Amino acid sequence: MSEPCACHSGRPYTTCCQPVHLGKIRPSPTNLMRSRYAAYALANVRYVLQTEQPNPPRNAKEQANHRRSLKQFCQSTQFLGLEILEEARLDDKQATVTFHATLLQNGQDASFTERSLFVLRNGRWVYVSALPEK
Ligand SMILES: [Zn+2]
Repeated sequence: MSEPCACHSGRPYTTCCQPVHLGKIRPSPTNLMRSRYAAYALANVRYVLQTEQPNPPRNAKEQANHRRSLKQFCQSTQFLGLEILEEARLDDKQATVTFHATLLQNGQDASFTERSLFVLRNGRWVYVSALPEK
């Protein structure tokens, strides 16, 4: 199996984001970003939810709504490209990753650039939120 990874690294899924999705390796912030993008592309909503920790946390109803809208987003979007622009460490437990995602939603360009905040929680990086652009 040498299916190309959905994060557009050009590497096979089996040696790129799959081991990250399976929890076999602890990714760097950049590789977590890649694996989350690939999870969106594969509609792996469970992985997307597992690797985020919004602040403030969502209540049960908000989480259910979020799960639903994630599913809808994954199904209505084509994930055409991912470019990592920068990874920066703020301190031992916080990092940012700036990326450009090329997306097509219902035939319309929905590409965007985001600076994401990640924090280290129990030895694993998790996504917190988008930050304002520098
Ligand atoms: Zn990948």
